[in-house]
Amino acid sequence: MDGEVGQPGQVGRAEIVVVGSINVDRRVVVRSLPRAGETVLADSTAQLSGGKGANQAVAAARLGRRTTLVGAVGDDPQGGWLRDRLAEAGVATDHLTTVPGDSGLALVLVDGSGENSIVVAPGANARLTAEHVAAAAPVLAEAAAVLVQCEVPVAAIAEAARLARGLVLLNPAPASPLPDHLWARVDVVVPNRGELAQLTGLGPEVDLVTMARALPCDRVVVTLGGEGALVVDGGLVETVPAPVVEVVDTTGAGDCFCAALADALVGGSTLVEATRRAVAAAALSVQQVGAQPR
Ligand code: ADP
Repeated sequence: MDGEVGQPGQVGRAEIVVVGSINVDRRVVVRSLPRAGETVLADSTAQLSGGKGANQAVAAARLGRRTTLVGAVGDDPQGGWLRDRLAEAGVATDHLTTVPGDSGLALVLVDGSGENSIVVAPGANARLTAEHVAAAAPVLAEAAAVLVQCEVPVAAIAEAARLARGLVLLNPAPASPLPDHLWARVDVVVPNRGELAQLTGLGPEVDLVTMARALPCDRVVVTLGGEGALVVDGGLVETVPAPVVEVVDTTGAGDCFCAALADALVGGSTLVEATRRAVAAAALSVQQVGAQPR
């Protein structure tokens, strides 16, 4: 049936629709990240399913939400592999489109302290169009929350926001200039500290609350790595500290955070309560390897 979630175990329409990127993550573990001109030997390598859109969709599905991912993979063998990984994680893939050419690829270098350095080749993600997104109009209109990031073209996420009838959450990663008509549809924006600085053009001398208030959105959650997160919800300002944990891999911490935030908001939590849940979920994710930890 048009717009139905077709994955086994999922009954009814999606509660959360994610519109975003899907990548093969080639993960390379090194003792220390190479500087320009330096060659370092890897301790190990692995191929994982990643991309901000896929990571957020997998996290939302694992939190128990019926989740659909709208995105694009290539017609290469990796495209089929990525589709299978998403289906395996319980994400509905009936609005994934296959486009000619390579699937997205991310080269993720992780050092001994869990810090990472990432190169992304967008591949199929750059070819997701507003028309592809419009084909998912029924699921977008019925979702309680639509979650978008900036690793696919702005026209695609703007179309998703236009077609959404529920909450629209924007994770502006990587930070990109966005049109006013998209900002007008965003209910909650979730930048990290660097993205907030880039989006506002304000320097480190400006405090985070002032920066958050400079965004064209009233409800802002700034993720602060090991320090947790800052909520600016109109006049309300609250810091939610992160628990001190042993960090194994911070790849995808922000994605886990966004999915848990959306899950809690769909469940009726306030923005501060949802942020507490997201900080707790992200703290669990940094203690495991990969961008889609179980
Ligand atoms: P991104 O991964 O998008 O750059 P952050 O680094 O801000 O985003 O991390 C996202 C969230 O993950 C943080 O708000 C925090 O809740 C959690 N997190 C990240 N690093 C740590 C850490 N070292 N300890 C505990 N939680 C962390």
